[in-house]
Amino acid sequence: MDAVRLAERMGRPLARLLGPSLRRRPRGVFYHLAGPHPRAHVRALYETKTPEQLALDLRYLKESFHVAGHEEVVWHQRRQKSLPAGSVTISFDDGLAECFSTIRPLLLENGLPGTFFVCEAFIDNRSMMHRNRAALAIEAVGRLEPGAWDAIREPCSRLAASPLATPGDLVAWLRSVTFRQETELDAICELLEVDVAGYLREQSPYMTGEQVDQLHREGFTIGAHSLRHPELWLCDGSRMEAEMRGSCLAVQERTGMSRVPFAFPFTGAMLSRRRLAALLADIELIDLMYDTAYLRRDRSFIVNRIPADAPGQPGDRSNLPDLMARAEALEPLRAARRLLRPHLG
Ligand SMILES: [Zn+2]
Repeated sequence: MDAVRLAERMGRPLARLLGPSLRRRPRGVFYHLAGPHPRAHVRALYETKTPEQLALDLRYLKESFHVAGHEEVVWHQRRQKSLPAGSVTISFDDGLAECFSTIRPLLLENGLPGTFFVCEAFIDNRSMMHRNRAALAIEAVGRLEPGAWDAIREPCSRLAASPLATPGDLVAWLRSVTFRQETELDAICELLEVDVAGYLREQSPYMTGEQVDQLHREGFTIGAHSLRHPELWLCDGSRMEAEMRGSCLAVQERTGMSRVPFAFPFTGAMLSRRRLAALLADIELIDLMYDTAYLRRDRSFIVNRIPADAPGQPGDRSNLPDLMARAEALEPLRAARRLLRPHLG
């Protein structure tokens, strides 16, 4: 039994005890995309649902919860009220093309609200997030001809600043790459003959500005997800502020919204809540922050969300009830871990 399953089993009785309180907490669920086939820029990063599986999730949410739009969350937060028990919010991170082609029609069909968090630098496929570039590189490593590894092993090791003995070592490095290694990542992409510009041009992995505008016109909420999706906890104070302020300003210019929600790229878990409260007071343009800490009881300006990309078993039922039950079972353990690391806020 792996550690997570063990913790889940141990957490279940405690979760039952805390059940009524846990169940009263509003839930957020978030996805990156849902599409018929996982595409090369995400295939190595995370699993995704098919449109049919997302449709099952949406039907489950519609039948079992009150699905609240961002405006409703803000309305309650301004009056210092919690959302009613049994509420859920739905959001989508990174502004990938499937948000428009697959997710938008499903939300419209079900009459459900949703928030799309976009990164300004990727709109219109002007550039590609470093993790998506790393995913393309991982695919290219898998396609290396016998003998080709020997030719690039030395330069790749130099760029990675670590001795890479096998292609598997390079894949491990690519999986751990952060925005601070973008220059080295780009050089390795070149050695692997990954054509990032060509991929952006031909595969259009992200939404266009026109599509984002249309989502806004149709009543969906557009939120900011930073300018270039860096690991914010590795940024210095001025870069972090520039990413938050700049991306919210860009969404404001695009949509005319007076205030804009912001979702942390990757996670905001390592960011001190005190520091975020100070930033929020300073950047008046942000109305709420969305994080990925499951059912964490958090500051009133943070909405936590459960990741729901995992497709589960094929079949004709949604796996969201299981994902939510798991989040409940693991919450006591997660809460204990946070207590032991109070510097995280
Ligand atoms: Zn993201």
